[in-house]
Amino acid sequence: MIRKEYLMTPGPTPIPHQVSLVQAEPIIHHRTPAYTELFVRMVEGLKKVLFTGNDVLTFAASGTGAMEGAVSNCFSPGDRVLVAAGGKFGQRFAEIAKVYSLEVESYEYPWDEAADPAIIARLLEEKPDIKGVFVTHSETSTGVVNDIRAIGKVVKDTPAILVVDSISGAGALELRTDAWNIDVLVTGSQKALMTPPGLAAAAVSPKAWEMVEKAESPAYYFCFLKTRKKYDSDNPESPYTPAVSLVKAMSTATDLLLEEGMEAAWERHRILAMCTRAAVEAMGLELFPKTLDRAYAVTAVKAPEGIGGGDIVKHMNRVHGVIIAGGQDRLKGRIFRIGHVGYYNFFDMVLALSALEMTLSELGFPLELGAGIAAAERVYLEMTSSSG
Ligand SMILES: *Cc1c(COP(=O)(O)O)cnc(C)c1O
Repeated sequence: MIRKEYLMTPGPTPIPHQVSLVQAEPIIHHRTPAYTELFVRMVEGLKKVLFTGNDVLTFAASGTGAMEGAVSNCFSPGDRVLVAAGGKFGQRFAEIAKVYSLEVESYEYPWDEAADPAIIARLLEEKPDIKGVFVTHSETSTGVVNDIRAIGKVVKDTPAILVVDSISGAGALELRTDAWNIDVLVTGSQKALMTPPGLAAAAVSPKAWEMVEKAESPAYYFCFLKTRKKYDSDNPESPYTPAVSLVKAMSTATDLLLEEGMEAAWERHRILAMCTRAAVEAMGLELFPKTLDRAYAVTAVKAPEGIGGGDIVKHMNRVHGVIIAGGQDRLKGRIFRIGHVGYYNFFDMVLALSALEMTLSELGFPLELGAGIAAAERVYLEMTSSSG
C-alpha cells in the first residue's frame, strides 16, 4: 500500500487547504497597510472565537510562550499563586511560576478527574494573599476538561486573577472568556484553531492589566505592555517581526471557524467525542477519565491488559499511517489518546477507529472487527438526525 499519513493527535492537527494555500503567497512586509489590515482581521477574529472584548495579544511562539508571558507579565518574584494541576500541562504552569520565583501553592487533583471549584474557593479563603489562580481548561495529557465557568465564579470576587490555559480548548470547547471571568486566556495555533504550530495568543482583562502595570518580573519578547501599545497605535503592528505566513494562516482559519459558528464547532467536537467514546467502549476498551463532562477535545483510552499504549501508537503509525498520541509522564504506556480537536469531521474518526480496531486485532486483543465503527455510526446518526 502507498504510505499516506493521517494526523489524529491532539496537536498539531491537520489544517484546511485554504489555510495551507495562503501560506504559499508572497511574504508581505510587516510595516505596511496590507499587513495591518491582515493583522487586525486576525486579532478581531480571535476575539470573536474567544468571546472576549479584552485585548488579544499574539506572539510568534508555541502556546507555551503565552503561558510564560502570563506568568512573567502579571506577577512579581515572591507573589503567591495557586496552580491547579491534574496533568502534564497543569504542571507546566507550576514549573514556569517557579522559574520566575513565584510562591507556588499546588492544588494537585487526580489525573482522571477535574479540579474541584470548591477546593479552589477554600484555598483562596485560607490564603487571601494569593494573587493568581492557574487552571488548565482542556488537560490534553489526560483528556479531562475543567469547569472554567464554575472556577471563574469562585475567583471573580477575590483579588486574584484567573489564568486559563485553553491551548487545546479554544475553538473546540465552549469557552466564554469574558462571561466566565477569565483574566488571562492563553491559546495556541496548532490545536482547534486549525493553523500550523507557531502562534500563541493571550486575552488580557482589565483586572489583569492592573497587575501587569505593577508587576516586576522581567519580560522582554513576551512583554504584554509593549505588545498592547503597538496594537493600539494608529498602525496596529507587533513590536518585532511577526510570523507573517502564520498570521495569514490564522486569519483564514478564524474566518472558517466563524463561518461555521462557534456553537456549531463546539457541538461538532461533542459529537465526535461521543462517537469515539462509544466506539472504543464497543471494542472492549475503557476510557481513562472518570470525569467525562465536557471532555470533548481528546479521547484518552486505557491500554488493554498486556498491550502497551506505546505499542498501539507505534503500530498504528508504522503499519497504518495513522498518527495518534501515547501517554505522557506517569501515564506513559498506560493510555493512548485520539485527538479530535480541530479540523475533523465524522469520517476522520471512522478512519482512526478502523485503524485502531485492526491494530488491536493485530496485537492480539480479541475484538470483533467493525464493532467500534458500528457503534460510532449509530451515535452519529442519533446525534445528528433531524426529527424527520
Ligand atoms: C499543546 C498544549 C500546550 C503546549 O503547547 P506548545 O504549543 O507545545 O507550547 C499547553 N497546554 C495544553 C493544554 C496543550 O494542549
